[in-house]
Amino acid sequence: MSTDTSTHRAGPVVVVGLGPVGATAALALAQAGTEVVVLEADASLDRDPDESRASTFHPPTLQMLDDLGVAGELHRRGLVSRSYQYRDRYEGLVAEFDLSALEGETAFPYRLQSEQQNLVDIAHRRLAAMPGVEIVLGARVESARVEDGLAVVRTGGERPREWRAPWVIAADGAGSAVRKCLGADFPGMTYPERFLIVSVDDDLSELVPGICEVNYVSDPEEWLVMLRTPRHWRVLFPVPDGADAADATAPATVQKRLQALAAHPDGYTVVHTSLYHVHQRVADDFRHGPFLLAGDAAHLNNPLGGMGMNSGIHDAVDAAHSVLAALDGDPERVEGYSGRRRGVALDLVRAATHRNWENLQHKSADQRRRNHEKLVRTAADPESSRAYLRVSSMLASRA
Ligand SMILES: Cc1cc2nc3c(=O)[nH]c(=O)nc-3n(C[C@H](O)[C@H](O)[C@H](O)COP(=O)(O)OP(=O)(O)OC[C@H]3O[C@@H](n4cnc5c(N)ncnc54)[C@H](O)[C@@H]3O)c2cc1C
Repeated sequence: MSTDTSTHRAGPVVVVGLGPVGATAALALAQAGTEVVVLEADASLDRDPDESRASTFHPPTLQMLDDLGVAGELHRRGLVSRSYQYRDRYEGLVAEFDLSALEGETAFPYRLQSEQQNLVDIAHRRLAAMPGVEIVLGARVESARVEDGLAVVRTGGERPREWRAPWVIAADGAGSAVRKCLGADFPGMTYPERFLIVSVDDDLSELVPGICEVNYVSDPEEWLVMLRTPRHWRVLFPVPDGADAADATAPATVQKRLQALAAHPDGYTVVHTSLYHVHQRVADDFRHGPFLLAGDAAHLNNPLGGMGMNSGIHDAVDAAHSVLAALDGDPERVEGYSGRRRGVALDLVRAATHRNWENLQHKSADQRRRNHEKLVRTAADPESSRAYLRVSSMLASRA
């Protein structure tokens, strides 16, 4: 194994992680003509196309990706979804919100359903062809520190190497090594239940008449989400605290839960299941000297509302523009980065996604009825509906 630890003078900006957030940050920097080095731990970015992670792109995110020249291809790999529903498990439709109400305010008055890996693939190919961009795969950052005002990161593996840069955007995901090395606190909580995501080949819209592409279904015992991606239908179920993971993901258990949702005489064709812990955490500071934390490295939330990846992409655009301004000699924007993005993570993303979780499972019939009445009133009034959609689609908090 090589022990070459000679200092490598990297381009002006290092991005750690080539997930959707790091990819966006790198595109924004490269498009502005800045040299970028992207350090990605995985040696290959060929991921399971059925991997169930984020799959919803909100209107302001689509605008940002369009500005970066990748929205067209993402649309070709996506599904335009104009409305979404709140439903009750037994009473059916409660309220439907139509994003067309945002026409005039955004060029993208809809959600685009497309797996996050599509964005990574498109951005990766685009970045690889851009001048001044170096993508280093198999480069896992193991340590990060500030030295003489510069950011220093060290990658491990076969050929350990040190990289120095005036700025690093750390988008290395939930377990961020950069965040840990810098000693940032990551306070918050873990939800008692785990989330089970089941992807099926069957057309749920035929089995559950009247649903649209995204549906939040409340129930005091077993709330759920049904959403369509270009490849499949997905159902998200809660798995109670303490339940056995092997049992929760066993084909017979999954089939039983699906059949209870809607009977399918031939049995469901399940193509993928994943079970994971869900958190609400926000780092105490998104900036540590020349390091800016972005995306899951900076904040985690539950997926109810599809705000995690979207707010991460908004972080990436803000971080890149902040760094570009600082490189041009104007530090004001970078100084406000943490305050701005932490504010969105705490006041919008954490608050909205937690409220969605609570509203899906009210135990008291009275609370359930009040929540349903509020949704019906909001959806029926054009002004209230528009105001609601501006917040839930993140237009009100765009970077
Ligand atoms: C199982 C699961 C299901 C999810 N479902 C949903 C959902 O339904 N809806 C939703 O909105 N969100 C969902 N999320 C969250 C969503 O996937 C994230 O918000 C989103 O991926 C954040 O993007 P990111 O680029 O910040 O991080 P990531 O996508 O995690 O990307 C981080 C990148 O950094 C790389 N990396 C990690 N460590 C290092 C290192 N030390 N050095 C170099 N590179 C490193 C990783 O290999 C990866 O490529 C889910 C997450 C999980 C785990």
